[in-house]
Amino acid sequence: MSTSQDRQNRIVTSRAHSARVYDYILGGKDHYPVDIKAGDAMCEHWPALPVHMRENRRFMHRAARFLAEEQGVRQFLDIGTGLPTSPNLHEVVQEAAPESHVVYVDNDPIVLAHARALLQSSPEGATAYVDADMHDPDTILDSSEFRDLVALDRPVGLMVIGIMHFILPPDDRRLVRRLLDPLPSGSYLAMTIGTADFAPEEVGRVAEEYGRQGMPMALRDLATATSFFDGLDLVEPGVTQVHTWRPGPEQAAIDDRDIAMYGAVARKP
Ligand code: SAH
Repeated sequence: MSTSQDRQNRIVTSRAHSARVYDYILGGKDHYPVDIKAGDAMCEHWPALPVHMRENRRFMHRAARFLAEEQGVRQFLDIGTGLPTSPNLHEVVQEAAPESHVVYVDNDPIVLAHARALLQSSPEGATAYVDADMHDPDTILDSSEFRDLVALDRPVGLMVIGIMHFILPPDDRRLVRRLLDPLPSGSYLAMTIGTADFAPEEVGRVAEEYGRQGMPMALRDLATATSFFDGLDLVEPGVTQVHTWRPGPEQAAIDDRDIAMYGAVARKP
């Protein structure tokens, strides 16, 4: 079995990594020259990429706030956390309810190396980090971090944000279902799903670039995106582009063609 030190030593700086490209484009500082090069190439294919990524992140903030403030959810499982970018999920939900628990999961050694920033919980709450792959949901659900922090007799917010485009069919739906399986009625799924529906050429070129960089990508139309929520009760306004899901004033001027992400929140009956 590999230790977390082994995994941190496995950070590959010769190839671009999705978490670091995202960090670079969002204006973070945890990336390498290879990620800058890849990010710049992608922005050349589609100059709206930074707007799109920022709106994905802001959807996460609004969805988390909705769950914490309006639905009283106090435990969260976040799959594909990414590099810490404040406000992180625990900062958003602990602002609403300091006693909230958050379990973060990512498979990238660089995220693991920066996980300390995710573990700065409020004293009343708790956060934990699991180094695991979404393709192995049982490792996540059986982890001591998940078992210690998440009580399965109370609702859980399952956050699957900005990762599904890296989870290819045919396993994609099964993996989401498996993570939802043990969660009690009244739990929620908040998810964003990449799409080329609004700028097919440009987004198609970005997807090709990711593929060339060793990160194959799945983009989905509205029907396919919606099917991830089958059997769940979508909250208003259903599946929409992320910037039109319960928008705030910041979203007013955004052009639909700049957003290649559907988002939704749904309740497990
Ligand atoms: N959820 C954050 C970050 C999205 S970036 C946000 O929306 O702001 C996508 C993240 O998913 C990256 O950190 C990447 O390492 C992670 N990821 C990609 N494939 C994964 C997999 N199979 N299992 C776990 N994490 C994965």
